[in-house]
Amino acid sequence: MYDTIIIGSGSAGLSAAVYAKRAQLNAVVIEKEYMGTGQIAVSERVDNYLGLYGESGFDLGEKFRQHAEALGAEFVEGEVTAIEKSGIGYKIILSDERTFETKTVVFAAGARPRTLDIKGEDEFSGKGVSYCAVCDGAFYKNKITAVIGGGDTALEDALFLSKICETVYLIHRRNEFRANKTLQNAVRSKENIRLVLNAKPFEILGDGKVSGIKISQDGEEKFIELNGIFTAVGTVPNSSALNGVAELDERGYVIADETGVTSAKGIFAAGDVRTKQLRQVSTAVADGANCIYSAERYISESE
Ligand code: NAP
Repeated sequence: MYDTIIIGSGSAGLSAAVYAKRAQLNAVVIEKEYMGTGQIAVSERVDNYLGLYGESGFDLGEKFRQHAEALGAEFVEGEVTAIEKSGIGYKIILSDERTFETKTVVFAAGARPRTLDIKGEDEFSGKGVSYCAVCDGAFYKNKITAVIGGGDTALEDALFLSKICETVYLIHRRNEFRANKTLQNAVRSKENIRLVLNAKPFEILGDGKVSGIKISQDGEEKFIELNGIFTAVGTVPNSSALNGVAELDERGYVIADETGVTSAKGIFAAGDVRTKQLRQVSTAVADGANCIYSAERYISESE
């Protein structure tokens, strides 16, 4: 039986792995994607992680992983589909029916992109509709694209694409951006980023591949001709394995404060999957550390 099983190998999970090894816990990280590092891998540049200004997200993720591996962290590839109470701890069940027994769980499964849920989105997904500008942007050299959303991700994506594409429409449903002011200023200073505000997309059109998007702006229907659409309308938590096990909020985030303690004894939540004010690398890394501290205390108090 493991002392702790860390579910997820993003910033929170890898930080937990480092702290678990340093605490000499018998631990394993279950990762959905082989050698994965989570959402950080698709962030072009990270300017707000202390001490590593201007690092590429991919490189930062690799450093996190190398750090955990240097301390001897163990990884298992697999998708966790269920977590069941079992004796003094939990049984972790994977989609291929492998099971693992553990005293505690650090649940750091992260979040995934939210879909727009409009006509044409499914049909053109992978044929002009993308959820990752850093991954797919290069296919749109000198083309016309749009980014949907008004948060940090949308503005970062628009800036990234502005270096590749002829024109980038930044389509946002409100007049004000949610993104930080530095990004807003950067976006406004780019000549090839065109702001389309108070605009809600409602249909993606094309013939085999995307040819345009229909939006409703200030009560009027409009059509924008383009080649690619990058949606950046937020994320949804990967919390389904905890459904009915730990308390989730109305949006599916695992209810936990910075100690990581959830309503299920011995299960601790870290990173973007938990209820929190600010979802960033810095807060995910802090969560991983806190969860291992909480798990250690929980194990020693239950012995
Ligand atoms: P977010 O902050 O939740 O922003 C989502 C954006 O999409 C909002 O502007 C929202 O509009 C819009 N939106 C949501 N549903 C929509 C729909 N159905 N149709 C049209 N627009 C829709 O998501 P995010 O930008 O992915 O960021 C997630 C978290 O990661 C945030 O905490 C963010 O600060 C953090 N992050 C940080 C950095 C960084 O620090 N460099 C980079 C990326 C992400 P409204 O504004 O009207 O709600």
